[in-house]
Amino acid sequence: MKLILLGPPGAGKGTQSKRLEEALGIIQLSTGDMLRGEVASGSENGKKAKEVMDAGGLVSDEVIIEMISDRIDHDDCKAGFILDGFPRTVPQAEALDSMLSEKSLRIDDVITIEVDKEAMVRRITGRYTCSACGAGYHEDFQKPASAGVCDKCGGTDFSRRADDNEETVRNRLTAYEELTAPIINYYDDAGVLKRVDGMAEINQVTASLKEIIG
Ligand code: ADP
Ligand code: ADP
Ligand code: ZN
Repeated sequence: MKLILLGPPGAGKGTQSKRLEEALGIIQLSTGDMLRGEVASGSENGKKAKEVMDAGGLVSDEVIIEMISDRIDHDDCKAGFILDGFPRTVPQAEALDSMLSEKSLRIDDVITIEVDKEAMVRRITGRYTCSACGAGYHEDFQKPASAGVCDKCGGTDFSRRADDNEETVRNRLTAYEELTAPIINYYDDAGVLKRVDGMAEINQVTASLKEIIG
């Protein structure tokens, strides 16, 4: 099973990818997570990416396409994968199409998670994750069962992303509208796009996705 999950920042792509990963035994390929890994490692690509990410812009297509092309070749992608945060521009979508045909791979479903604009800002500014296991939470919408303790691993240390502040969020939403939203049409025109209501409760969104995936 190979999926593309589209949607603006804060739509719930990461949250849903993690759930589908567990349910379907396939892996989440998040270009955002990969880039944060590069930043943490202090690599040349990481240094360049950090500036762009902190400003809420998009990292160059060239860097991203190479990163994904290499990643898809790993053995752990054989059973299937969920692309989360990629493609994010029309050139990335076009590069993905040619990359897949070269590798003789096919995407099963392209699904966009739709949310209201106001919800995005609230979701992003309230988002935090467990520092130990990466489980995602939200101040208001997804609290751990026991305050301050991660449901998944019992960790008590949590962190927020450097770019999840109100200023950067505005730029990220602009980047989404200008550069990413056009790929919705790209897949819609190709007749392969499916939509789910991302304003529903987290469990309901998972159920809608599973219904599409079958
Ligand atoms: P994305 O990967 O699309 O940027 P996330 O999955 O990280 O989005 O979700 C952003 C924030 O919103 C997280 O804090 C998450 O807990 C919360 N969230 C995700 N889906 C929902 C939902 N359906 N309703 C309410 N909050 C949600
Ligand atoms: P979100 O889903 O909340 O927007 P991500 O974790 O997907 O966040 O991405 C964080 C940042 O990493 C983006 O704002 C952008 O700077 C960079 N990034 C991630 N994926 C891509 C991509 N496919 N193309 C260009 N930049 C990307
Ligand atoms: Zn944890």
